[in-house]
Amino acid sequence: MGRKRNHQKKSPAVDATDSPLLSCQVSPVYGRYLCTKVDVQKGDLLIKEKYLVAGPLSLSGVVCIGCHSDLSKKFFRFKCTKCSWPLCANKCQKSPFHAIECQFLLEHKILPPEEPDSVSYGAITVLRACLLKKTKPREYSKLMGLEAHNDIRKGLPLWDANEEHVVKVIRDEWKLGQDFTADEIHTICGILEVNGFEIGDVYSFLGLFAVTSMLAHDCVPNATHFENIDEGVMERQRR
Ligand SMILES: [Zn+2]
Ligand SMILES: [Zn+2]
Repeated sequence: MGRKRNHQKKSPAVDATDSPLLSCQVSPVYGRYLCTKVDVQKGDLLIKEKYLVAGPLSLSGVVCIGCHSDLSKKFFRFKCTKCSWPLCANKCQKSPFHAIECQFLLEHKILPPEEPDSVSYGAITVLRACLLKKTKPREYSKLMGLEAHNDIRKGLPLWDANEEHVVKVIRDEWKLGQDFTADEIHTICGILEVNGFEIGDVYSFLGLFAVTSMLAHDCVPNATHFENIDEGVMERQRR
């Protein structure tokens, strides 16, 4: 079950699941994949998991970095009273998403892009992932254990777009070149692209899940998922 061709690293075999139902196996061809330890019935809950990181989609235009709603056509934009980044309203200033970077943006004097048609808001998601290295190193190492396919992606147009709208933004415009290498940022971009889910019931944004990513398919799916955005969790059920 849950075999995502070539999207998982071939080693090491990690007990990534913390689940009484699932175990992580390794195929020399397909990399890591999940097996059930017991027979499961239709509708059985396989896993309930909180995201490792979530945020604006790749190459996203202006969004509220509290709830990820589209602000591109909003004439008036509320600004966070601390970091000055755009939000829809005061309530989004207290969002757990924005709490990750608000103080960091303030301390490093990182202001939002000035261009109205900027597509650099996806860099916020990559920054949230980068910040895990210091704030939640265990989760950062789970994230970096996912496949990025840098060798393949280097030949694709998206690589150049990431260089322009994420790597240069974080390292040059935000002056964080000492903190995060270009290779590290490109790898995180790849991990998000290869393993991330587009989630959200009202506004689409990106969520990366350590174990659930192994249940993505390019074959006939044998599981389905449900999102609870308020709790930031995704559930997978046998279908
Ligand atoms: Zn909002
Ligand atoms: Zn803020």
